[in-house]
Amino acid sequence: MNAKTLEITPVPAFSDNYIWLLTTGGPECAVVDPGDHRPVLEALGRLGLSLQYILLTHHHADHIGGVKGLLEAYPAEVFGPVDSRINQPIRAVSEGARVELPKLGLSFNVLEVPGHTRSHIAFHGEGVLFSGDTLFSIGCGRLFEGTAEQMQQSLDKLAALPATTRIYCGHEYTVSNCAFALEVEPDNAALRVRAQQAEQARQGGECTIPSTLADELAANPFLRTRQEAVVTAARQREPGVAPGAGTMAVIRAWKDEW
Ligand SMILES: [Zn+2]
Repeated sequence: MNAKTLEITPVPAFSDNYIWLLTTGGPECAVVDPGDHRPVLEALGRLGLSLQYILLTHHHADHIGGVKGLLEAYPAEVFGPVDSRINQPIRAVSEGARVELPKLGLSFNVLEVPGHTRSHIAFHGEGVLFSGDTLFSIGCGRLFEGTAEQMQQSLDKLAALPATTRIYCGHEYTVSNCAFALEVEPDNAALRVRAQQAEQARQGGECTIPSTLADELAANPFLRTRQEAVVTAARQREPGVAPGAGTMAVIRAWKDEW
């Protein structure tokens, strides 16, 4: 397929989750991280789409809880991380695997990005990244199962993707993430602009996702743990802390208690 145009539509679920719906002009579609099958089935019916593929970034219930209900309605192929806690018939994929979605003419590379959970993966390709709960717009996931060192390595891996990559994450957290990030970097002009844009978008009921990797590199403190302003802010809480993983640990803990 040459003339495909990837369209990505948010299907909101729960209070702030996004299930991403992928189409390329035909009736076939894929979804990423369906925590709930009901809004997906509603969207498929409304748009006249047939579900072919399901992509899962990690085992948390708000990302996989809808798989069972979707498979009861559609014989979709499911790709997800190697993790026995995902109690569904999936094709387990790991670092370097290529996920082919031939009915959509799409393919994605699998990146292992532990930190939020130990088996978290991301899907990169077609100019987009599905980052789950690892990289958020102006934030990163909580360290439920991993270390700050692992999160630093995972975010370094994502930071090395093309700067134009559009980032589709699992939650609408941008406004509160910006408020925290401004505590870390009050003088970051790019961050102030993002905060204003996000506030306006949410007041208008709009989704703040996707951002681009370039936007995130300019304003997301968790991608800026070697920048002087972020290291300095971390050192005000923990004197002498090192750039990189040390700074990551301090600002992640700061956000947890914020
Ligand atoms: Zn999660």
